[in-house]
Amino acid sequence: MARCFSLAAFGTPLRINDPGCVAKTFPDYFSRFAAVTKAAPVIAIDGPSASGKGTVAARVAAALGYAYLDSGALYRLTALAAREAGVDWADEAAVAAIAARLDVRFAEDGVYLGGVNVDEAIRSEAISAGSSEVAAWPAVRAALLFRQRAFNTAPGLVGDGRDMASVVFPQATLKIFLTATVEARAERRYKQLIEKGFSANLSRLLLDLQQRDARDSGRSVAPLRQETDARLLDTTGLTIDQAVNQVLQWYREASR
Ligand code: C5P
Repeated sequence: MARCFSLAAFGTPLRINDPGCVAKTFPDYFSRFAAVTKAAPVIAIDGPSASGKGTVAARVAAALGYAYLDSGALYRLTALAAREAGVDWADEAAVAAIAARLDVRFAEDGVYLGGVNVDEAIRSEAISAGSSEVAAWPAVRAALLFRQRAFNTAPGLVGDGRDMASVVFPQATLKIFLTATVEARAERRYKQLIEKGFSANLSRLLLDLQQRDARDSGRSVAPLRQETDARLLDTTGLTIDQAVNQVLQWYREASR
């Protein structure tokens, strides 16, 4: 029976459908391949919505000159693309097909879907709710897995999300569970919205976050949780700089 190996080498996912084909001509192909390829290091940062993990992860990536993966953006893009195609978020197979074909580009000035800048559109409250709904589907998560692993290029990667440490990059050099109290997170989100000139309601934001936390932690596939080998970073009383410095310090220690 043909087995299937999947490798994220050189930034492009490579799938070998029939690894048995080397058995006769190059029997130690896979051990030789493993010896010459060394995956670039990964810092995996997971945590609940509005914990500030995106800001911290992006700054850590910039400080180290590493790539940055905002995995939540892929779920948001999937929800937006499904809505634009008239596909119901409850239709697992149809949403997964959309996730597999997403035409995405991450650029300096934001994220593009089918050539259109959708940076603001994917941050709306409706798409936030939709992204956590589509993220609960196993087929959608599977469709986005290799796309995420393809970000693991040299010299390194900082990825943020819910399952960076548990599923996408279990080999990460450093795993962090970054959180803050739900009240602190609601207040941060409230301030962000007000600063951008949007109207916002603090108690409604608090309720939304509680509902998303419950959905993200309670789902059967890749639920949000702190891995046993992840370090806890509670940012409730920390500034962004303090949180970034803490991650960098832990990374220096983990890389020794
Ligand atoms: O991180 P962000 O809030 O942008 O993520 C949007 C939604 O995508 C989350 O509520 C979560 O349900 C989902 N998500 C996920 N796994 C990830 C990243 C995000 O399930 N790795």
